[in-house]
Amino acid sequence: MSYFVDKNGYYGQFGGAFIPELLHPNVQELEDNYLKILESESFKNEFRDLLDTYVGRPTPLYLAKRLSEKFGATIYLKREDLCHTGAHKINNTIGQILVAKHLGKKRIIAETGAGQHGVATATVCALMNLECIVFMGEVDIKRQAPNVARMKMLGAKVVPATSGSKTLKDATNEAIRDWIGNPEDTYYLIGSVVGPHPYPDMVARLQSVISKEIKEQLKAQTGNENPDMVIACVGGGSNAAGAFYHYLDEEKVDLIAVEAAGLGVNSGESAATSQLGEVGVLHGSKTILMQDEFGQVTEPYSISAGLDYPGIGPLHAFLHESKRAIFMNATDQEALDAAYELTKIEGIIPALETAHALAVLHKMKFEKNQVVVINLSGRGDKDLETYIANLKDE
Ligand SMILES: *Cc1c(COP(=O)(O)O)cnc(C)c1O
Repeated sequence: MSYFVDKNGYYGQFGGAFIPELLHPNVQELEDNYLKILESESFKNEFRDLLDTYVGRPTPLYLAKRLSEKFGATIYLKREDLCHTGAHKINNTIGQILVAKHLGKKRIIAETGAGQHGVATATVCALMNLECIVFMGEVDIKRQAPNVARMKMLGAKVVPATSGSKTLKDATNEAIRDWIGNPEDTYYLIGSVVGPHPYPDMVARLQSVISKEIKEQLKAQTGNENPDMVIACVGGGSNAAGAFYHYLDEEKVDLIAVEAAGLGVNSGESAATSQLGEVGVLHGSKTILMQDEFGQVTEPYSISAGLDYPGIGPLHAFLHESKRAIFMNATDQEALDAAYELTKIEGIIPALETAHALAVLHKMKFEKNQVVVINLSGRGDKDLETYIANLKDE
């Protein structure tokens, strides 16, 4: 069985490109060129150079001694929180901005919910001196004011989506409409392993630098490039795809994907897509998504804005269906507790998204020499207000 995309853009039954007829030329252009570009020497050199000198790669693989002691395992943290802009998202936007340049595109569009992908996109557009338009739901613009300010400071134009629920899916519709209207000069920069083929595969390949480095670093530190387990949180699934990528065919390495359970999986306020979702089409691909009996996408909920997504990428839908990855989840409170715990015992304030991955340590049994790698997808500075508001006095 292969866990990689097939030549038609599918992972098992999931994936494909379910897009309006008018979008076919744009997506076809990308599909015809993305592998040629990603595999060209000029792209590889530019990408590696920017990852090293601008993003700050390789990020450390840190043996967390006190965390290890607490859980009775050997736990390493892959420090994506130390990337420029504070999370893994920049690996993908750096890669795609280079793809856009190779295609001769002059205008970059993106959609964002929490604003983090918008910031990562605006950052690389500033770096490359390219026009940047970010579509964002009107409600999200109000909720995420600091990220909106960052995007504007970086020179991006933030366009409010005013239809529907005025959140991410409405911003996505606006971005697609814009792309249909501007097929020649515009590149649509998607922020996770979602969207029509070839986006999920392209984003997974760009983020795969994470597991490539984990292998090299583990080999150097322990003599064995394979851990027993890799744990990552899943919103759309890009940091998990990057952390899993070079381990997909190493069946002895357990892959643990952690979703946000919000107030509880069955509370009605959750984003645990694999537990609640059904097969359907979201954002141009066939995947698992949360929907009501009429097939309408339901609004997800999580305390962490980056996991608040009603679907998962098609690769993850397939990893779930094939049981190659084990899907777990953590509630808001469990994530908060895990974030305070890591901060206290390792001196690292994780992003709320990442805290979900840390929380499942409490739900597993380990053996002392078991090697566990947790992908520390981002830093928690952006979540400080939430952390302060929920802090209990001791
Ligand atoms: C956006 C984000 C996520 C969720 O996105 P994925 O595509 O699932 O990785 C996770 N962690 C952090 C820090 C993020 O910013």
